[in-house]
Amino acid sequence: PERGAPLLRVRKIRKTFGGLVAVDDISFSLSAGDIVGLIGPNGAGKSTTFNLVSGVLPLSGGEVELAQQRVDGRPSRDIARAGLSRTFQHVKLVPDMTVLENVALGCYGRTRCGTLAAMLGLDRAEERQARAEAMRQLKRVGLGEQAQALAGNLALGPQRLVEIARALASDPALLLLDEPAAGLRHQEKVALADVLRQLKAEGLSLLLVEHDMDFVMKLTDRIVVMEFGRWLMEGTPAEVQASPAVRAAYLGA
Ligand code: ADP
Ligand code: MG
Repeated sequence: PERGAPLLRVRKIRKTFGGLVAVDDISFSLSAGDIVGLIGPNGAGKSTTFNLVSGVLPLSGGEVELAQQRVDGRPSRDIARAGLSRTFQHVKLVPDMTVLENVALGCYGRTRCGTLAAMLGLDRAEERQARAEAMRQLKRVGLGEQAQALAGNLALGPQRLVEIARALASDPALLLLDEPAAGLRHQEKVALADVLRQLKAEGLSLLLVEHDMDFVMKLTDRIVVMEFGRWLMEGTPAEVQASPAVRAAYLGA
């Protein structure tokens, strides 16, 4: 999609777990080329929103449009094929596989770079193609040198970058990152922010859940704030920072 074109439109999405309304009529949109932040206190419904948008959980209500196509109700695999990829709040790498193999897993299921046959080593040509694609994505996040290391031996910062490379291997237009900076050291956060800025410069769009306010404020074009499952406000980083409602939500005042 062309920069500035509507890429993601979320309309009144809703999720209930029994009596709990985890996501309560949330609406927002994201234009191609933007980095949008989704923030709010713990339990606000941010991860659930990601699960709804990416098709990991079924909606209780509302609509999701990706590149002007309805994707709500479709399985997450289809939504991934339509151009949306994501990482999870907790690292989900296979520790006993190499970094390259972990990234190659992101290729499978996508027609361009692989099938189950390739994954099982039955189709050498496809396997080679998946490895080449994985290497390309690893270089994109600055980890080309670590391709043969075991994923479990990397520090947390590089592990997060491997997850991002794996998400990129399905060739998304939109990448959803759930707390990518959590638990990272300062230098690792700086490296992560540099990678995300570079991806944006290459035309990728990002939706980012993150607790580190400094990280969010410096990186995003717009921010959506949630509290208790509800939409609290949306604005530029400066507008959000200046909002008394946002301060009250965070300080519990
Ligand atoms: P956040 O990511 O903003 O911290 P979550 O989306 O993880 O918040 O959770 C929002 C609310 O929904 C919380 O009260 C959480 O306990 C609840 N919740 C999340 N997932 C489930 C689930 N699978 N079953 C029941 N309750 C859930
Ligand atoms: Mg969460």
